[in-house]
Amino acid sequence: MDRTSGLRPGTLAVWAGEDHGLGNATQVPVVHSVAFGYDDVDEWIDVSLGRAPGHIYGRNTNPTVAAFEDKVRILEGAEAATSAATGMGIISSALFGLLAPGDRVVSLKDTYGGTNRLFSEFLPRFGIDVTLCDTTDHEAIEAEVAKGCRVLYLETPTNPTVKIVDIARLSRAAHAAGATVLVDNTFATPINQNPLALGADLVLHSATKFLGGHADALGGVACGSKELVQAVYHFREINGASLHPMAAYLLLRGMKTLALRIERQNANALKIARFLESHPGVSRVFYPGLESHEGHAIAAKQMRGFGGMLSFMLAENTFDAVRRFLPRLTLAHTAANLGAVETIAGPPATTSHVECTPEERAAMGIPESLIRYSTGIEDADDLIVDLDQALRG
Ligand SMILES: *Cc1c(COP(=O)(O)O)cnc(C)c1O
Repeated sequence: MDRTSGLRPGTLAVWAGEDHGLGNATQVPVVHSVAFGYDDVDEWIDVSLGRAPGHIYGRNTNPTVAAFEDKVRILEGAEAATSAATGMGIISSALFGLLAPGDRVVSLKDTYGGTNRLFSEFLPRFGIDVTLCDTTDHEAIEAEVAKGCRVLYLETPTNPTVKIVDIARLSRAAHAAGATVLVDNTFATPINQNPLALGADLVLHSATKFLGGHADALGGVACGSKELVQAVYHFREINGASLHPMAAYLLLRGMKTLALRIERQNANALKIARFLESHPGVSRVFYPGLESHEGHAIAAKQMRGFGGMLSFMLAENTFDAVRRFLPRLTLAHTAANLGAVETIAGPPATTSHVECTPEERAAMGIPESLIRYSTGIEDADDLIVDLDQALRG
């Protein structure tokens, strides 16, 4: 029985992927078995070759992991999904699964630090040419794409200055050039944005962040057509970065409250962004829900909510100001993570862009006093009181 057709995201987050076929437990069981046995050799062969449903070996597939993939797949409106042990596991599997020497990738200067490392260090080693464009310069991206490329890789909103790129517009340009469009949808989540519906071909998530939402499990997932997902899965099955069944269970459980959490985080982040915008201790606020944000119009067109992530510059633009400010926050983990139920704050130098040198960060337009703020599900008024006392010092 498919009980998910025609349902809305808040209902899908709860019910999608839950028909596990593993007995009548109401919760998806955690199947720890590494291997799955077959008395009938012909059935074993059919499952091995993908001619019949079933599982063979845990590095390839697992029933708990499959339930998690299915939940995200349905929320993203995709034909197929596959997963990996981490967000970087799925991003690197997607790139290595789809690219070959001589191929060209066009992407943005503002992608996640680890992704940027793949583009600057690893892909070029294998003869793959990478061109990184100014993130919000749509004309420049279109011009690079028109020169020919195999993959256009996008991320929106970006980390940490929450820049916005127009997925529909750039997907049209990429398809005209015969390219495949990949979008990292980690910051938006499928509750706020569905890249496939906007024209992208493959959507990627670090499930570690908002999908799981409780900062207790790492994971990554990719959704798209059967053909593209198969190419990603094929590399992942061989590189071996498989999602652990226990992590899949934690992510599945976390995702049941995804819509509730995201609605709250959208509302909290907007309220906090407006408060910070008028605070004398803050010189600049980056949040796509603010009319002052350069990507606001595109965000309003392609997102249903503006997300829980914002960043801001302290009035004193030095790293010393960051050193003084962060320990004064009482309602925030100061940690290298985001997307959890608790608020998390940190500077890009220790979080998203730890892989980059100070010079590279400066070239990316990341100011010294930038604070990345991942709004949790707390009461926004308590978070505002906490930010206010920390800013006043
Ligand atoms: C964290 C993150 C990643 C990497 O995910 P991991 O699960 O840490 O490997 C990729 N993209 C974005 C936007 C992220 O925030």
